[in-house]
Amino acid sequence: NSLNFSGGPGALPESVLQQVQQAVREVPEVGLSILGISHRSDWFAAVIAELERNVRTLLALPDDYHVLLLQGGATQQFSMVPMLLLHGATQPAEYLHTGYWSGKAVRAAQGHGPVRVLWSGEAAQWWRLPRDAELPFSPTAPYLHYVSNETVEGLQFHRVLGLDEVPRVCDMSSDFLSAPCAAERFALIYAHAQKNIGPAGVTVVLVRDALLARAPEGLPDFLDYRTHAAAHSNFNTPPVFAIYVVLLVTRWLLHEVGGLARMAEINQRKAQTLYDLIDAHPGVYRGRAAVADRSRMNVVFELPDAAATQRFLAQAQAAGFSGLAGHRALGGIRASLYNGLTLEAVQRLAQFMEDFARHG
Ligand code: PLP
Repeated sequence: NSLNFSGGPGALPESVLQQVQQAVREVPEVGLSILGISHRSDWFAAVIAELERNVRTLLALPDDYHVLLLQGGATQQFSMVPMLLLHGATQPAEYLHTGYWSGKAVRAAQGHGPVRVLWSGEAAQWWRLPRDAELPFSPTAPYLHYVSNETVEGLQFHRVLGLDEVPRVCDMSSDFLSAPCAAERFALIYAHAQKNIGPAGVTVVLVRDALLARAPEGLPDFLDYRTHAAAHSNFNTPPVFAIYVVLLVTRWLLHEVGGLARMAEINQRKAQTLYDLIDAHPGVYRGRAAVADRSRMNVVFELPDAAATQRFLAQAQAAGFSGLAGHRALGGIRASLYNGLTLEAVQRLAQFMEDFARHG
């Protein structure tokens, strides 16, 4: 198997893959394939309940949050959030436009009500994130929205932003459960599952109960968080397989990794390994993000020209490293280091990059 450094679907832990393989054949407790188990079975209700419990434990999430498993990806959340919180607002919601994905969130919200882009990285071509002094937050904004980790540009906030009196809403799609995140400081967190926590199809939403009291009447049922909270994330047919895999990943995080602080240490070492190597060869590799804002999930860098980039990608592919081409919007190289990718795999990539830097 190639080592998976893709920025899209992330590598899953080996022990999870083995359990998935078994479950596709047969979930022993049920005697059926996971692909044929009803979402109305007691077994699946227990899967949802355990997954919810595990997320609460991993994040030390207070009891007044709902843990919802929704469909429609993070993209659906770009609209569901303003449908909930921007309806009838007189003050603009504040958005940070720090890269490709936050830009999509801004554009979706603008269709629902007043939006103020508090800071945009466009002039700086998305190579850095704002400092606190550049962010004049308004205490009367209906909410603040930002993306904790810009997957395409490889920029990650290493602090919580905003004012405590304004609800924080955060797209954590590409760094959810990669480290502790102070979840209790956010009013709503969403993360699709394709990166750190499982296959596409399910999106995890953590939302403070008090926020749902602000929901306008007349929302389509499916786009109203209250529907899914009341139905325990089983309103219509949910993605049973994807949810089961996310459960296995949370068990792995709890029982094999030993929690999010430990996961964060491992992820930190993985990222440091690559950034050190990049910085050691400034004539060959150039990290794209400002050093203070470097992502621990997506290491984005450039080579001197297109020919060198193509040579790098071809040799990497031949050496068994997959998914290293940068996002189509940006080009260059992106090494994504999601939870399931081991430190050993990253060390092997670093060795390859060292050899490439020396011999081309
Ligand atoms: N937000 C971030 C940070 C992402 O990385 C992605 C996809 O990679 C999305 C949103 C969009 O997610 P989806 O394709 O599940 O709608």
